[in-house]
Amino acid sequence: MDLGKTSAGELATQLASGAVTARETIAASLDAAEKLNEQLNAFLEIDRDGALQRAESLKANAGALAGIPVAIKDNLCVAGLQTSCGSRILGDYHPPYNATVIERLLGAGAVVIGKTNCDEFAMGSSNENSAFGAVKNPWDLSRVPGGSSGGSAAAVAAGIVPVALGSDTGGSVRQPASLSGVVGLKPTYGRNSRYGLVAFASSLDQVGIFARNTGDVARVLGVIAGRDPHDATTADVPVPNYLAELTTEVKGARIGLPRSLFGEGLDAEVRASVEAAIDVYRVLGAEVVEVELPNARYSIAVYYIIATAEASSNLARFDGVRYGLRADDAPELRQMYRKTREAGFGAEVKRRIMLGTYVLSAGYYEAYYGKAQQVRALIKQDFEKAFARCDAIITPTSPTPAFLLGEKVDNPLAMYLNDIYTVTANLAGIPGMNVPCGLSSKRLPIGFQLLGGYWSEPTLFRLAHAYETAQPFTERPPISA
Ligand code: GLN
Repeated sequence: MDLGKTSAGELATQLASGAVTARETIAASLDAAEKLNEQLNAFLEIDRDGALQRAESLKANAGALAGIPVAIKDNLCVAGLQTSCGSRILGDYHPPYNATVIERLLGAGAVVIGKTNCDEFAMGSSNENSAFGAVKNPWDLSRVPGGSSGGSAAAVAAGIVPVALGSDTGGSVRQPASLSGVVGLKPTYGRNSRYGLVAFASSLDQVGIFARNTGDVARVLGVIAGRDPHDATTADVPVPNYLAELTTEVKGARIGLPRSLFGEGLDAEVRASVEAAIDVYRVLGAEVVEVELPNARYSIAVYYIIATAEASSNLARFDGVRYGLRADDAPELRQMYRKTREAGFGAEVKRRIMLGTYVLSAGYYEAYYGKAQQVRALIKQDFEKAFARCDAIITPTSPTPAFLLGEKVDNPLAMYLNDIYTVTANLAGIPGMNVPCGLSSKRLPIGFQLLGGYWSEPTLFRLAHAYETAQPFTERPPISA
């Protein structure tokens, strides 16, 4: 079985026809995970026994993902497995329940093979903020896979699993997808449940999907999307049959081009590659229209105020009382909180808790947090205006291809600028998707991003599928199953 080249869709057909068994498929995926993890550090836990048991107990025709191996970012609760969020403060914390998206994956017959490494509490763009070591990029082991869902991106890129889940608060699915050469979707806010996703910034967080092609992302979204009584922010919007909508017809589609985002700071090879993708759309019969996103230039500042404010509140629950780590050399309660948090959180998480506490404190709240919320509303309006004129917007996903491990760790501002193209979608609540569109001269993946209006996932799938059909990205990384 060529796991590294077989999509979830193809696997589903082979499993249904009996050409392969679920046990063989899951065993192959586990073997690849164990073998490649020595180089990639993509998994924090690999569940050989549980996954094999589940593969054996699956009934025939168990669902759309029957017997398909999946990898799950270690900030999503899977009963029986650890949920560390890449942090020492949770360590090997074992949640007693499944996140709703996991319940739904399991309900469709998917088999979780393990939990993937990530930046601590999903804060980062390179995976170097994990307390358990950085993930390596399968295209070049001296480089980052992107973050914060880097383990999931690397696992899919290396062909260990056809699909994986991550979380995207400011780009953590799309940016690592871009740097690792896979498709990555952040759905509309409220499309999926966040129940069982450890909260970073609740008004921005959304579970996202990695795969090596659009069809597999569509297949998984169809399974996990929809209203959940456990998450009041999920919307009661019908879930279309995404797979059925996956045509390649884009004639007459209007693609918005925000030219101002193609200027300063954008790597020349990334620009050329995304412009070539725009030309492919022209050839396919789409119309390219210029759009303006005048407030996009404030998005990084707005994001890092709102995200840190929400994080400072969400992370207050890690106090040594309820979960994971507890400092044992503290005779008094407040000292115990302090020592636990001092020992349990890494530098970036502490930086964000301090920043978030500051922007919410009396005297600064109006100047920072209040102002950021106002600009967030303007960013949303920019998109509403733009989508009156086009069906989707195209931008680069990341300003550069994968950078070197260590290159930006000491410069938080340079690191934050990786998110320049992705954070606007979270601020506005709209869906965004990375589509691989080539390799740089150093053989590093480049991707473009499609952004759409609320609930426009079918449009994004159609546009992405048309592109990948016209211009298939078939390259494989040197580290691959
Ligand atoms: N890189 C961004 C951050 O560090 C986005 C993280 C995410 O989407 N989880 O906040």
